[in-house]
Amino acid sequence: MLGWIADSRRESRSLIRSEKYLKSLDDERSVWLKGKRIKVYEHEAFQGTLQTISALFDMLDDPVMQKQVGYPSPKTGEYVHTAFLVPKGPTDLQQRKAAFESWSEATDGMMSRLSDYARSRLAGWYAARKQLSRHYRDFSEKITRYYETARDQNRFITIVQRDVQINRSKQYDERCFEEAGLLRVTKKTTEGVYVSGAKMIATAAPYTNDFLVYPVMKLNQAQKSAANLFIVPADAKGLHIVCRESYAKPLSEKNDFPLSAQFDEMDALLIFDQVLIPWEHVLLLESPEGIWEVKTNPHSASLAYHQALIRLKTKLQFITGLACKIADTIGCTQFLHVQDKLGELIGQVETIHAILLAAESEGRSIEDGVYLPRFSAIETGRNLGAFYYPRAIEILQLIAAGGLIQVPASIEDFQSALSPLMKTYFRGANLQAEKRVRLFKLAWDVIGSPFASRHELYERFYAGDPIRNRAAQYLSSNKRLLLTKIEKYLSN
Ligand SMILES: Cc1cc2nc3c(=O)[nH]c(=O)nc-3n(C[C@H](O)[C@H](O)[C@H](O)COP(=O)(O)OP(=O)(O)OC[C@H]3O[C@@H](n4cnc5c(N)ncnc54)[C@H](O)[C@@H]3O)c2cc1C
Repeated sequence: MLGWIADSRRESRSLIRSEKYLKSLDDERSVWLKGKRIKVYEHEAFQGTLQTISALFDMLDDPVMQKQVGYPSPKTGEYVHTAFLVPKGPTDLQQRKAAFESWSEATDGMMSRLSDYARSRLAGWYAARKQLSRHYRDFSEKITRYYETARDQNRFITIVQRDVQINRSKQYDERCFEEAGLLRVTKKTTEGVYVSGAKMIATAAPYTNDFLVYPVMKLNQAQKSAANLFIVPADAKGLHIVCRESYAKPLSEKNDFPLSAQFDEMDALLIFDQVLIPWEHVLLLESPEGIWEVKTNPHSASLAYHQALIRLKTKLQFITGLACKIADTIGCTQFLHVQDKLGELIGQVETIHAILLAAESEGRSIEDGVYLPRFSAIETGRNLGAFYYPRAIEILQLIAAGGLIQVPASIEDFQSALSPLMKTYFRGANLQAEKRVRLFKLAWDVIGSPFASRHELYERFYAGDPIRNRAAQYLSSNKRLLLTKIEKYLSN
């Protein structure tokens, strides 16, 4: 899948983007895994993931691929990732789409926080800097400087918004901020502000360069000490990154766990213990209105979720292809209920595809000539995804059934003395045994491995609580046209 990169490397010595990125991880960051402070780039849990990210970053240095995923920086002329491009019309939006498709295709939609989502949010805030400047002095200058640095230095960035899950009933009662673990300002000095508290969940935290940190709740003036937007480098003093258990398998087990070995995106809890945020990195301070606008800003939300939907489409295509192949392999495509379920999967892909087209073709130019996809379409697709993915996994399980378990422990078992018998009994209707086992091992990595469970949870919750997201769509949508259709029946 990523083999082209090795060929390009042989041909050219100019592929240095990944080398720079890997080197940037050799800093003083405090990353904890299983009770030990670790060096991310040396630890085997990150090998496959870092290799995948490196290959994606190196596309920007490949003479052919760089046009697909990048554009020349207006400042340096070097190719930078298209997630930073502020779209000024439909062509720019399509250029962004092509870049997201390339990265999604290379990972079959299994990696979602490759920084293209966070870079899109950043590009949105940069594009909306005039409007957002109302909430804090120097916002425009600071966001411009950071945006240009992140773009031209290929900074890996990730976003963390949610507050740590301790006691949701007390969370936003300002008398309980400390008890609820909320990230809040504790001290202001001439250098900047000190913050303490925690944030969850930060996907990609151990190997990011910077975090963009802010809350997503609607806060009031009494809660203003939690209403801030900061840029925090991963090696900030006092910041601790506590990883969950690794679901990554060693690259040597790629045959048995093709996805876990390459695409595990680590998630972590961030603990801020009196972390100094220099003024240059304080984008909003004690501004509940500003934070609400940062969350709801159409530039940032439309661009970020446009990326997320493109990735979702690729992932659903992958699951659908897998389900079709399995049904074919075990000879069950003639059963009506199997056809019905495969049709449902194809319908999921077509729906997300159509929503993307609608959002793009009904995009509009807003202030400063920025062109955005239609948000209500994007929002619909995002909200459907939280329910589509778990259903897609359920369908895959219903079709593959016991075949998911009818596999030897390892593909290497085919090298044993039992190989001739295994070749007879592990075969499919139209597939030889070793390939059938590879197919079902791939399916297990989508359904049954720890990596798989994390993905189901991710798709349900990455954009927040799916129930409250749908409720928010109801609350924010303009229902006048819908109601007019009914009103005409209610009067004489
Ligand atoms: C694998 C994974 C990776 C993620 N990565 C990131 C990331 O990189 N960056 C990021 O910012 N976020 C990320 N998220 C999303 C985020 O951290 C939360 O998981 C998500 O917003 C849901 O919130 P919660 O988990 O705190 O659930 P909670 O808010 O604690 O909800 C728990 C339950 O209580 C209910 N509930 C809680 N409060 C209310 C209320 N006020 N009204 C009604 N019902 C309520 C919920 O419906 C739910 O059933 C990630 C999530 C997952 C699962």
